[in-house]
Amino acid sequence: MRLTPQVPVKIVVFTKLLTLKRAFFGNNLAIFPLANHYIDQSPMNHPYSWIEDSLKTLHRANWYRRVKTIQGRGGAVIELEGRSLLNFASNDYLGLAADERMIAAAIAATQRYGTGSTGSRLLSGHRDLHRDLELAIASFKNSEDAIVFSSGYLANLGTITCLVGQKDLILGDQYNHSSLKNGAKLSGATVKEYRHNSLEDLENQLLAHRHHYRHCLLLTDTVFSMDGDICPLAGILALAEIYNCMVLVDEAHATGVMGENGTGCVEYCGCQGRELIQMGTLSKALGSLGGYVTGNAKIIDFIRNRAATWIYTTGLSPADTAAARMALEIIRLEPERRQRLHQNINFVKSKLNNLNILPSEAAILCLPVANPGQALELSQKLLEKGIFAPAIRPPTVPTSRLRFTAMATHSLAHLEVLVQSIGESFST
Ligand code: PMP
Repeated sequence: MRLTPQVPVKIVVFTKLLTLKRAFFGNNLAIFPLANHYIDQSPMNHPYSWIEDSLKTLHRANWYRRVKTIQGRGGAVIELEGRSLLNFASNDYLGLAADERMIAAAIAATQRYGTGSTGSRLLSGHRDLHRDLELAIASFKNSEDAIVFSSGYLANLGTITCLVGQKDLILGDQYNHSSLKNGAKLSGATVKEYRHNSLEDLENQLLAHRHHYRHCLLLTDTVFSMDGDICPLAGILALAEIYNCMVLVDEAHATGVMGENGTGCVEYCGCQGRELIQMGTLSKALGSLGGYVTGNAKIIDFIRNRAATWIYTTGLSPADTAAARMALEIIRLEPERRQRLHQNINFVKSKLNNLNILPSEAAILCLPVANPGQALELSQKLLEKGIFAPAIRPPTVPTSRLRFTAMATHSLAHLEVLVQSIGESFST
């Protein structure tokens, strides 16, 4: 009789796993024999399997996102997945993205220059229309010079990383846009956040930390993108002067919207002519795509020489450049668009007064809700009533909310439907 030795189950399983691994890695092990050692010791798993688990976690927390398809042009009324909806989710505050003059400018530039700019600006990607746009932005913003990037996000990453490095300090508002926060991280500087809009906390941190660092850069949105409120700009500039700091403000949601001439919050807060760096995007009220930075000529020259996200990326397309240039012209010629936008903002604010709306002077109006689930539920209710207003949830913001953006092209009837639908959805 043959006796079979009793092999513990653990060892059997382990040996089988090893055989499986060897079968799996087959030929690769012939090429990389050193890997035998690693493979025998590491557990059997697939390098991408964690992604499925993470997606499940996102679903469970109601943090999962998906894109929604809008048919045709954007505007105050849109076709979304087969339904006609009132659009309160657009950054096209002045309704320029579908304006015939913008479209004609983009077509004309495409016919003249082609579809792509074909290279980075320092190599083959620079055209006269890029410089023309930069000079127009500098004049609009009352600054010495300007530089345009391929997006606002890239403008922030590039500017911050070339202004500060490892020996420096960045102090930023805790609610700053992702592009400011990631630019700060990427720069290698020490990054500290101050409480939202708190000059007191900013000064305390300057007192505690400023003298340990070479340069210091203060970063803030002027209009906060997920709240709609405005930074205390005059106070921030005063602190910057005292503590010898550079200041970069993000005018993404203020450009074309705030101030007597629509140039942004720097104008709105009476801070024109002060020493600071301003950035903004061409993709919101200007209805195009791209980002800009303005400041004194030396700073812009420095950015042109040092900002990796400008130097090593393809120049803005001719169509986007020409559309943004046209938007500046329309903004100058038609102040009534901006006036109409502010009438719309004030109408909605006055009607939602009793609903705990977050303080805002800009086109972004937010209603806080208890949790991500409730935000999704209310957004869905509004959708059923013909309103498109997305739920804004963590991790974009610390607490969930519904966010409505006003446009100059909303009619009074559109706004009345919005107000009534919000009233009904929040009361049930
Ligand atoms: N800053 C802020 C405050 C923004 O809201 C955005 C866009 N959401 C950006 C920068 C980035 O601009 P862009 O879309 O042009 O990349």
